[in-house]
Amino acid sequence: MTKCAECDADISVPGDALEGEIVTCPECGASFELVKAAEGFELKPAQTVGEDWGQ
Ligand SMILES: [Zn+2]
Repeated sequence: MTKCAECDADISVPGDALEGEIVTCPECGASFELVKAAEGFELKPAQTVGEDWGQ
C-alpha cells in the first residue's frame, strides 16, 4: 500500500505488479508509474498528456 502524492489517498499496488506499470489513484485520478524501491515500489508521477495544463 502506498500513498498518493497528490491527495494522500491509499493506493493499493498489486502483489504481482511490475516495474513501470501505471497505477491510478482512485480518489483524484492521478497516474503514477511504479518504480522499484528498497521494499516494494515507489510511485513516480506519470507523464500525463493534456491534464495538467493551465493550473
Ligand atoms: Zn490521489
